[in-house]
Amino acid sequence: LSDRLGGVFDKLTKQGALNEADVATAMREVRTALLEADVSLTVARDFVDAVKEKATGQAVTKSVTPGQQVVKIVHDELIKVLAGDDAHAGALKIDSPPAPILMVGLQGSGKTTTTAKLAKRLKEREGKRVLMASLDTQRPAAMEQLGILGMQIGVDTLPIIPGQTAVQIAKRAKQQATLAGYDVYMLDTAGRLSIDETLMAEVEAVRNETKPHETILVVDGLTGQDAVNTAENFNARVGISGVVLTRMDGDGRGGAALSMRAVTGKPIKFVGLGEKMDALEEFHPERVAGRILGMGDIVSLVEKAQEEIEAKEAERMMKRFKAGRFDMNDLRNQLEQMMKMGGMQGIMGMLPGMGKMQKQMDAAGLDDKVLKRQVALIQSMTKEERRKPELLQASRKKRIAKGAGMDVSDLNKLLKMHRQMADAMKKMGKMGKKGLMRGGLG
Ligand code: GDP
Ligand code: MG
Repeated sequence: LSDRLGGVFDKLTKQGALNEADVATAMREVRTALLEADVSLTVARDFVDAVKEKATGQAVTKSVTPGQQVVKIVHDELIKVLAGDDAHAGALKIDSPPAPILMVGLQGSGKTTTTAKLAKRLKEREGKRVLMASLDTQRPAAMEQLGILGMQIGVDTLPIIPGQTAVQIAKRAKQQATLAGYDVYMLDTAGRLSIDETLMAEVEAVRNETKPHETILVVDGLTGQDAVNTAENFNARVGISGVVLTRMDGDGRGGAALSMRAVTGKPIKFVGLGEKMDALEEFHPERVAGRILGMGDIVSLVEKAQEEIEAKEAERMMKRFKAGRFDMNDLRNQLEQMMKMGGMQGIMGMLPGMGKMQKQMDAAGLDDKVLKRQVALIQSMTKEERRKPELLQASRKKRIAKGAGMDVSDLNKLLKMHRQMADAMKKMGKMGKKGLMRGGLG
């Protein structure tokens, strides 16, 4: 795959902004990569469409190709989607004890194993008293399996009473957890080979009986399209609060992670990385994104190119500052950097001793819109005016403000900010090497 990608990207070597054709070409390869990673067809298509729109028009970093740039954009977007904005991504939400946690999923997905792994984690990391109960009345050995795991990890399991239904066992687990003062009780349900009505009705009844604080869907990370159906069904019928992806220690690229996020909108909380009881890890979106896309080389190449350019630019500005120069072009540069980085960390953030100024600009409430307007003002100045803004006459100010569609007061604010910054620069320049170079730049 890498070879094929390399070929496509070599052809795209123009610089500038990404046009639709650049993006479309690269996104075809991205789509293939996603499908090869077992991302579901519809999820892959939707993701590709969304990123296409975002990527078109974005600037291409010098020394990388548009195709490479697209991969980087895809990679970042993938991380964003995978991460979501859930605060409980790497943890279980546990309210007042005894907190019920319901484990659901197909047979063989790793429910029982994951139940025990999570119990161990809760016990060891959070000092919780955990009770596990097997509601698997389907397979004779299932209850013993959980019991054995419980002994291994030193977590109690609910005693087995033959002949009880899943709901009866759940009730008993709740009573026992309440009476004996457990913090958490975990309900390991039976799975089926595929979704069926009996399974759903049973899980639903258990849910109604216990009102779980978390309902965790356990999904085999190696399954592709099927995983989506499973997730959709469980989510619609029982309502899940999070996902654990198992078998992420295998060869699969883990595309199910993206599908799960897209289909359920629920966080992926953990990944299973083996059969052992501590083979459970918090979900790391960056790692999984890299694996799904399988284009890590390209991503790091683009990151490096961007860093180099920023470092060079910082160095160039440093030289000017040291010489006591900070004109409107420098200011514009800084403002554009801020917009690009989506925040107040521009080049200045990289310069030692600039933190204070950065704070001032923060305080001035410089959001994207304001930044754009300020850049527009600078753009409507002449070259000479940008170099020496102090020479601006009232009539010129009016013209400039009008040219940018703003008031003279806006321009005055900008000029004042520039003066303050230039003054600060001068002072720092005087401090010379000692003050400025400490951070190791230049
Ligand atoms: P259940 O039917 O959903 O309860 O699935 P089990 O917990 O019984 O697991 C089925 C098999 O998958 C067992 O052999 C587990 O050891 C294995 N398994 C579970 N999680 C993982 C994992 O993260 N990685 C690997 N390699 N095997 C796993
Ligand atoms: Mg089981």
